[in-house]
Amino acid sequence: MENINIKSMDFEIPSDVLEQIQQNIEDIIRNFDIPDANKTDVIKKINFMYSSTIHMSVTDPLTKLYNRRHFESNFEREYMRAKRYNSPLSLAIVDIDFFKKFNDTNGHSCGDYVLRELAYNMLQNFRQTDMVFRYGGEEFAVILTETPAETAVVPLERLRKLVENYNFKFRGQDLKVTVSIGVSSNTEFETPWEMFDDADKALYESKKNGRNRVSSAG
Ligand code: GH3
Ligand code: MG
Ligand code: MG
Repeated sequence: MENINIKSMDFEIPSDVLEQIQQNIEDIIRNFDIPDANKTDVIKKINFMYSSTIHMSVTDPLTKLYNRRHFESNFEREYMRAKRYNSPLSLAIVDIDFFKKFNDTNGHSCGDYVLRELAYNMLQNFRQTDMVFRYGGEEFAVILTETPAETAVVPLERLRKLVENYNFKFRGQDLKVTVSIGVSSNTEFETPWEMFDDADKALYESKKNGRNRVSSAG
């Protein structure tokens, strides 16, 4: 496993708290009977284990995307920031069409392959400043920072087309997949979760109107 630098990761742990934790670890180590020559290595190892644990707690093992837990804290923060500074923000929910039938027809391993491949393509499709999460089973959330409604539909429509035309290939078999997308850019609500529901309603519209489409709320 690659080495993980805790401070470079986007966690909601203030740097002074991290420094305190690191200091505590070092203090604990010093109180153990470890030869001086090994102390630095032991501290490094504990730091690594600690940062790996944090990393696992916010990551989905199948797709390697950030998970729902991480989505919730990031979305809340971005929503509050957008409201405070009156800056544009969009939230999209991406849901694979007829995925239950896809699994039933092609098998669960094939479904897992699609989830991984889609996750990878989503990361390529959006800006570095946008954040992609696996929200649930076959549902993904994308936080598009500094992005108003008119601009949000551009990468979302690009993603929709990309998936529609993508050559998913599993064990020699060519497969077709489509996604439906709902997006909200309304930050006038009291809470971020109302904005989430707004995007979810737009997703429902996409499903109702035939799937494989992007719908904007409002
Ligand atoms: P819709 O177009 O309305 O979204 O239909 P759907 O079949 O995609 O929706 P539904 O919620 O009925 O089913 C979602 C399916 O996603 C159910 C489950 O088999 C599949 N799924 C969820 N998580 C995983 C996973 O980790 N791996 C695989 N292979 N399938 C998953
Ligand atoms: Mg779903
Ligand atoms: Mg679905």
